[in-house]
Amino acid sequence: MRKQIAAANWKMNLTYQQGEALLDEILADGIQLAEHQLAIFAVPYPYLLMTRSEVEHENNFSVAAQNCHHKKSGAYTGEISAEMLHSLGVPYCVIGHSERREYFAESNSMLAEKVNICLENYITPIFCCGEPLEIREAGTQNDFVAEQLKESLFHLPAEKVKDIIIAYEPIWAIGTGKTASTAQAQEMHAHLRSIIAGKYGSSIADQVSILYGGSVKAGNAAELFASPDVDGGLVGGASLVPADFIAIIRALK
Ligand code: PEP
Repeated sequence: MRKQIAAANWKMNLTYQQGEALLDEILADGIQLAEHQLAIFAVPYPYLLMTRSEVEHENNFSVAAQNCHHKKSGAYTGEISAEMLHSLGVPYCVIGHSERREYFAESNSMLAEKVNICLENYITPIFCCGEPLEIREAGTQNDFVAEQLKESLFHLPAEKVKDIIIAYEPIWAIGTGKTASTAQAQEMHAHLRSIIAGKYGSSIADQVSILYGGSVKAGNAAELFASPDVDGGLVGGASLVPADFIAIIRALK
């Protein structure tokens, strides 16, 4: 079975102490994850080491950065490289979240560079894609997300693509309380898997975990995750509430 993943995205929330207390409370619940399940915390850079040491004795709990720079190193004041993340023992990095695409003008081609630099540094990208409301209303969401995948991922060889985690996050559902219906999520996930299969074959496509993101809550996670092509979620708001994120982890297939 491909990996089923609950990934928390804290964004720019919580102080260090609040983050530590949140992790303590979640881990104190004693959730035992199965071999094919994984819980990941995408935390602000200054909390990466603390989070790594919180989760390192837990089975299948891990840590992610929320971004990295697309260049190897150099005069980019204030930026963080993939090599730096690797040197901290960070195994995952969120790439191309819609907030970064929108507020920091991250293009599909820049995201291709980020994906490459992560892979060169043994970091698995959690690659985000998803359409804005006007594209959904125009009914062209399938072509829109296909383009995002093609321009940022499809230069990779099959053995690299199979390990990438994809997060489908319709922008109109992020932080809005408006979740995609289970049918909309399943339809898009099946579409994403079919375009990966078209390029790399179905045995590769079947190995790629595709997460849904956009107002996943304790109350809707189990239904969303039950869909055959939904392999868990990337969760913003609800990941800041211990009981809610615990329930979301427990909703994994
Ligand atoms: C996100 O941050 O990727 C996200 C999906 O946020 P929310 O769960 O709050 O909609």
